[in-house]
Amino acid sequence: MRELGKQLQQRRQAGLYRSRKVQDGMQGAEVVLDGKTCLAFCSNDYLGLSHHPKVIKALQQGAEQYGAGSGAAHLINGHSRAHHALEEALAEFSGRPRALLFSTGYMANLGVMSALLQRGDHVFEDRLNHASLIDAGLLSGARLSRYAHAHADNLQQKLQASKPGTRLVATDGVFSMDGDLAPLNELAQVCKQEEASLMVDDAHGIGVLGQHGRGTLEHFGLNMDDVPILMGTLGKALGTFGAFIAGSEDLIETLINQARSYIYTTAPPPAVAAATLVSLQLLKQESWRREKLQELIAQFRQGAAALGLELMPSPTPIQPLMIGDSQRALNCSEALLAKGIYIPAIRPPTVPEGSARLRISFNADHEPRHVEQLLDVLDAIV
Ligand SMILES: *Cc1c(COP(=O)(O)O)cnc(C)c1O
Repeated sequence: MRELGKQLQQRRQAGLYRSRKVQDGMQGAEVVLDGKTCLAFCSNDYLGLSHHPKVIKALQQGAEQYGAGSGAAHLINGHSRAHHALEEALAEFSGRPRALLFSTGYMANLGVMSALLQRGDHVFEDRLNHASLIDAGLLSGARLSRYAHAHADNLQQKLQASKPGTRLVATDGVFSMDGDLAPLNELAQVCKQEEASLMVDDAHGIGVLGQHGRGTLEHFGLNMDDVPILMGTLGKALGTFGAFIAGSEDLIETLINQARSYIYTTAPPPAVAAATLVSLQLLKQESWRREKLQELIAQFRQGAAALGLELMPSPTPIQPLMIGDSQRALNCSEALLAKGIYIPAIRPPTVPEGSARLRISFNADHEPRHVEQLLDVLDAIV
């Protein structure tokens, strides 16, 4: 413990120190950070639903009906009618027999792997998977192998070299720091050939991709036969909080009985489930937010290309600008903030060594003039 101060100092010198800004008020194109109004391109509230009046109203009404908290775990008496209705709606939305709510995406990933894997089993993960999937694999006790990013052939080689037994393959649908898509068609095919189960974490795809906003699987035209385990989060495009796993009857019943991060924790507030039910309806009924996002993305990519900025191959609202050096990324972020634009510098270990970046993300609250403003400032700074 005596070394903590020294370690923090080293962290600061390497440009890796992390600190928070205090936000007043709601998410939106403009936010108030540390008392200063700025144009923000960083949230995961892709559809702007976190502050939709109908969603807020549902949260208020849910609190009046159910109280502020659930009071117990799902398996005691914390599983409310609102939670149950949301699970049914999410099952229908994802085209699967059942869905199960978790408090967070992190916990959903831990829960799935702790329930399905044990010592002697084998889990295969994309090198750029979200930390929660990596941690889930490590904690499961199974052997963890990481395959080259988005590389189905490399996965197949690793599967062929492994022993038979329970083999789970897990990937982000949309990679959270790069914005690109996993090659799900190829991965699903490899998993079928090699008799492994495929799990997709679609935290950034749900609500954003696919004609009906059903996410990366809809984008690629895949179903439960291809991807038996689907994870989605509710704190991003759905604008509220929580996560779900969707799949077969047997999968969900296994999780209810064996997922430790489901069993040993208080159920999320029922009011949050009531609010999510309304945001899910908005997501399904109103496609204009998804369409607007695609227009903003196209505007940004065209403008950035015209300025000679090097973009990554991302078709999603996540449009990172690679910087490389951590300190330089931090300096760029600070220079942007001085001009009234907030984009955080994402640094290792969130991304690999030497690949610090500005993770620009768009949401349906942005307008074309905001994108223009962003391009002008980037041109002057990066
Ligand atoms: C955000 C995220 C999670 C974690 O979800 P939370 O609900 O925020 O805990 C998991 N996986 C991916 C890919 C994410 O981007």
